[in-house]
Amino acid sequence: MDHTHHPIDRRRLLLGAAALGLSVAQLAGVPAARAGDRTDDLAGDPARDPAAGRAGDPAAGLAGDLGPAGAGGHAATLTATRRVGAYEVMALYDAAGPFFTSRQEAFPAASAADWRRAARLDPAAFGPNDAWNLDFRCYAIRRPGGRVILVDTGVGPAGSPASSWAPVPGHLPERLRAAGIAAGDVDLVVLTHVHSDHVGWAVGPDGVPTFPNARYAIQHAEIAALTNAGATTMLSYVVDPLRRTGQLWEVDGRTRLADRPGGAVTAVPTPGHTPGHQSVLVERGRRRLVVTGDVLVHAVQLVNPDVGYVFEDDQDVAGRTRRALLADARRHDALLATAHLKQPFVPARATR
Ligand SMILES: [Zn+2]
Repeated sequence: MDHTHHPIDRRRLLLGAAALGLSVAQLAGVPAARAGDRTDDLAGDPARDPAAGRAGDPAAGLAGDLGPAGAGGHAATLTATRRVGAYEVMALYDAAGPFFTSRQEAFPAASAADWRRAARLDPAAFGPNDAWNLDFRCYAIRRPGGRVILVDTGVGPAGSPASSWAPVPGHLPERLRAAGIAAGDVDLVVLTHVHSDHVGWAVGPDGVPTFPNARYAIQHAEIAALTNAGATTMLSYVVDPLRRTGQLWEVDGRTRLADRPGGAVTAVPTPGHTPGHQSVLVERGRRRLVVTGDVLVHAVQLVNPDVGYVFEDDQDVAGRTRRALLADARRHDALLATAHLKQPFVPARATR
């Protein structure tokens, strides 16, 4: 989503910041709130779960932002992991907060029945007074040997382009440290699209790319659309610095990103939310996981893919893309990894 071209309700943003503090405190105090986030095959194993094994490391920490409870077992609950073949897919929480419009304003076509079904699927997204609570999440795909593909980079630090509407600063750097991932381990960053809440930590405020050893994959159609629209803020914040250092990889269409006997990772064009939007497919044999990006931003679009989101660039194209992606994901019994739902991993079949 991108709201830089829309008027911002300052009062709601301030309320949003307050609510962010509240929700983070709740995470620290109420383990059950994120019980669903626990990794299925790594939880509680300090030998394999870096977050659980390094409580004494301030960087493992949550100590800074979640208080004493965060220094213990809660680190793992903020970094859920699923395995696909040889790959570990980790959900990395960057930020959370209420959206600046009501959910009905954001999804005007949603019916009462749609909302009821969505609430069963992702209850934490429903705040009081028609509020939409959302997470801002990135995903790391760790390959054997420790190299990492990072999908999206969150809202970024204070002062990032998302600051005008999203709850900055995000926490991706702490989450990466807690997961045992150094900036130098990341050899590919996939930006699903160039909206401010997905590119926040891609390049530092000093104009230096955050991940020195990484290529950054952006669809050619996305960069062309930004250029045509004269989107100078996003071009100068993300695209120009990557071009200067030679780290920009303009992919064009479906592109294989990693391939080995243990599985494959592929960038798949999923236009509509933006012209050059892409998703990331991780597969091994019959097991599939799709990092969707903003093909769907709320569970209401899972239970009814016809429900558009007002800030989609092209609602018709976005709707077609969403229906096709979800139909395919259900056919293959895929796991969906979304940026903005309150739970990081949702089985596509759960949404029928
Ligand atoms: Zn978004």
